[in-house]
Amino acid sequence: MGGSAGSPLFGGGFVVAAYARNMTRALLIVDVQNDFTEGGALAVSGGDAVAQGISALLREHAADYDVIVASRDWHEGSGDNGGHFSADPDYVDTWPVHCVSGTEGAAYDPLLETAAVTHHVFKGQGRPAYSLFEGVTETGETAAGILSAHGVTTADVVGIATDHCVRASALDAIAHGVHVRILTDLVAGVGADSSAAALAELAHAGAELVDTGTGTGTGTGTGTGAEPDARTRPDAGAAREASTEGDAE
Ligand SMILES: [Zn+2]
Repeated sequence: MGGSAGSPLFGGGFVVAAYARNMTRALLIVDVQNDFTEGGALAVSGGDAVAQGISALLREHAADYDVIVASRDWHEGSGDNGGHFSADPDYVDTWPVHCVSGTEGAAYDPLLETAAVTHHVFKGQGRPAYSLFEGVTETGETAAGILSAHGVTTADVVGIATDHCVRASALDAIAHGVHVRILTDLVAGVGADSSAAALAELAHAGAELVDTGTGTGTGTGTGTGAEPDARTRPDAGAAREASTEGDAE
């Protein structure tokens, strides 16, 4: 056969040396959990597609990240977790019961492949916690500590929900001092308008909005402008296609 004189990926010992070390990248995966995807207690339309898109990104690019931090909302089963749960939620500051620690709803969506995740953080134990930076790992590490320890300079942010926990996590990442990129096709929001507003706010705060072409999410809720109540319908979005051409913003 001949001719294949060593693949650049597997042929030699120079792969690691080929990486410049002046840019260190993190991927922050926010709350891709059963209760936030189709069929969950607080289902966000497009959540399953986001889980699949992130998995596709990880299959192609996990090695491009120095650390991959994933968060889970992880509430207590008793009490209202500091006023976070309500029997009459306003979907702004109060929410139906969701992501109770150890339950199926709090587990990662099975469509999210987590093998490449290097750090798992838990947040919201007994209190509201929107940002991944409010969480801790089982050994007590915070996202800020992890990013600092690895000298991270750029953080890509993906997950659920654009207008709540993605927004809060990205703002905290910016405040931490790293360059933040929101991968807009790998986030899904509760409301279309509030998600668009969140992305505008993040861009104004210095985040870069990047469409990776990997996922099918629109970043701004369903992207159809229809059904303002779709956020609580477990079947919403299941049959919806995101690729309507000529979509008017
Ligand atoms: Zn919560």
